[in-house]
Amino acid sequence: MSELSSLPLAATNDLSALRRTVADWKLKGLQVGFVPTMGALHEGHLSLIALAKEKADRVVASIFVNPAQFAPGEDFDAYPRTLDADAAKLAHAECDLLYAPVASDMYPDGFSARLSVEGPARGLETDFRPHFFGGVAIVVAKLFNRVQPDIAVFGEKDYQQFLVIRHMVRDLDLPINIIPGETLRERDGLALSSRNAYLSAQERSTATSLNEILAAFTADLEKGIDWETAQGKALAKAANVFDRVDYIEARCAETLSPLPAGPVLQPARVLAAVWLGKTRLIDNMPVG
Ligand code: AMP
Repeated sequence: MSELSSLPLAATNDLSALRRTVADWKLKGLQVGFVPTMGALHEGHLSLIALAKEKADRVVASIFVNPAQFAPGEDFDAYPRTLDADAAKLAHAECDLLYAPVASDMYPDGFSARLSVEGPARGLETDFRPHFFGGVAIVVAKLFNRVQPDIAVFGEKDYQQFLVIRHMVRDLDLPINIIPGETLRERDGLALSSRNAYLSAQERSTATSLNEILAAFTADLEKGIDWETAQGKALAKAANVFDRVDYIEARCAETLSPLPAGPVLQPARVLAAVWLGKTRLIDNMPVG
């Protein structure tokens, strides 16, 4: 791993240095944008940096593979760590500062705070990764406290996460505008993800089915087919293609609460998580 000082953009793991830089920007009246990531950056992440640059005068990106959002047995150790390549991409995207804290600083010995989030965190991911949103909420709250941004951009690729953070910010009165960034996809529709690197060539060609199944599910709902029937079709197709299906569901777009029975008459979102071998893929789409 590189020394942060040798990277091709301003980078620090030091909280005081981060605070000095951001305070200096704010003294000059500049708006600060923030894009939290776990690194292994791809064009999807970079589109969030571009959006943050449109909405703010200076942009901080963080790279931190957050142990609190991985359960034992998940891919924390295997998660790709590519700091040099990430820094080159951030520099090219004209990100103003990379903040890459170390775990012992974020979670010192005896760290005991927990954040419990409900509302849009209920169900979907939580049914399969019950630790996940607590870990995301605590790290994002800490990063928000550290960076003190005016705006922060979160990808719709992780739509449930985006809503959980937006609700958390509202509920805790944090003065941060949470902005959604559209999902960037490969030509065949597969949503870009750091975890796509785990896919074998054959799994990669199968992975495109997730986008197709969600698109067909969405089209059925838009035709007025009741969601139970449309979901049944999507689940049957997915069961044929994927090694395991965690969920494929249609939910209320704003709250992620379950929809009333029958045709979908309100803004909705279809969301899915499936497995190919050892790789878990998630994706989602708006309905209507
Ligand atoms: P991660 O590094 O996976 O924690 O993601 C960091 C941010 O990038 C999150 O807000 C994600 O939702 C977002 N993101 C991940 N994949 C994409 C994508 N394909 N398009 C747009 N944003 C994405």
